[in-house]
Amino acid sequence: MSVLLRSGLGPLCAVARAAIPFIWRGKYFSSGNEPAENPVTPMLRHLMYKIKSTGPITVAEYMKEVLTNPAKGYYVYRDMLGEKGDFITSPEISQIFGELLGIWFISEWMATGKSTAFQLVELGPGRGTLVGDILRVFTQLGSVLKNCDISVHLVEVSQKLSEIQALTLTEEKVPLERNAGSPVYMKGVTKSGIPISWYRDLHDVPKGYSFYLAHEFFDVLPVHKFQKTPQGWREVFVDIDPQVSDKLRFVLAPSATPAEAFIQHDETRDHVEVCPDAGVIIEELSQRIALTGGAALVADYGHDGTKTDTFRGFCDHKLHDVLIAPGTADLTADVDFSYLRRMAQGKVASLGPIKQHTFLKNMGIDVRLKVLLDKSNEPSVRQQLLQGYDMLMNPKKMGERFNFFALLPHQRLQGGSYQRNARQSKPFASVVAGFSELAWQ
Ligand code: SAH
Repeated sequence: MSVLLRSGLGPLCAVARAAIPFIWRGKYFSSGNEPAENPVTPMLRHLMYKIKSTGPITVAEYMKEVLTNPAKGYYVYRDMLGEKGDFITSPEISQIFGELLGIWFISEWMATGKSTAFQLVELGPGRGTLVGDILRVFTQLGSVLKNCDISVHLVEVSQKLSEIQALTLTEEKVPLERNAGSPVYMKGVTKSGIPISWYRDLHDVPKGYSFYLAHEFFDVLPVHKFQKTPQGWREVFVDIDPQVSDKLRFVLAPSATPAEAFIQHDETRDHVEVCPDAGVIIEELSQRIALTGGAALVADYGHDGTKTDTFRGFCDHKLHDVLIAPGTADLTADVDFSYLRRMAQGKVASLGPIKQHTFLKNMGIDVRLKVLLDKSNEPSVRQQLLQGYDMLMNPKKMGERFNFFALLPHQRLQGGSYQRNARQSKPFASVVAGFSELAWQ
């Protein structure tokens, strides 16, 4: 890999990345209490009607409705990423991010015996920028991946973003096949000739040897919130504020609720957030990886079971009160990696979470940056590369707030042979790129 990095991965990508700095979502913000206008959005009207009909709703239901309601959800009909959107993500900042992740997948593919085929599956692909950068690496390393059958599978609920992904990734001369009623709602061919399909749910992605990727995906899944009280744990609900018209407020449930079962018996915090949907997805990924091999790479902001109230909103690159103008702002909560680890336990091995700056450093970001800088005479491009590097790596920016976490078959770490159909039966190496310091030559 060091040779590949030194010789570069082809020409400098001409894709203009976001001018920096813009806010990234990993910033901590306690919800509520921000003075702000409260326009009556269609989503607010819908939620008030719902609460009036059936009573207060859990924070998880609130988050799910606001973000992914098929008719009015925040994610469904808009492009919220980038300079003109509400927040910026690592792949939108620097091409190097996706390139290094592409190298990670190839490195795992090689370490597990170079299977004759694999699926690249991304959960929540945003604008498709990350998968585009990964596929560029696959093309540049065509001689390594030669004769390997690759297919791309995107799990995306947003109609708008899936259209942008198709524009970014597919060959326009090959018409897209669309079938809104089918679990595979869109199909096409990427610019490099790889079959690509879209799904709303991971369950519908074909099972088989796969590499899974989730970048800033788990943080948008709905969380339940709980507060410790003298009477025990009480779930936080969203209700209509009786004092102010058209305003929502948080209330505590008067008695225990079923979701309380998710709280650990020895929990010491006084406020916790739990994300059952994340658990379901990790269990599904773990079962698939245990059965057919492959790996999952999860990158997100989060903690290891230590933080309390992290639920927050983002709008126009600013923090936003989560209960104001629902449907116009992104809602997010830090990922609890200790919970993800528990959900994977017994099925697959997990690595991390480790900090983004450590992971990218281990993957050779400094070497890749130098290659790109050496190749570029354009001062503005050089400045963009350096600023992008700083944003991704600086511990005060994204470097420490974002984490990498991986799921791998147990055999991968034990050095046993796993992949039966592999072209090589070489035992797995125990070093997993990114999670251990590699000797870059
Ligand atoms: N990974 C991208 C985008 C992150 S934003 C990046 O880093 O730039 C979150 C993404 O997850 C969006 O594409 C959003 O539409 C998608 N998403 C949100 N909830 C989802 C769900 N329940 N199932 C599938 N995709 C979802």
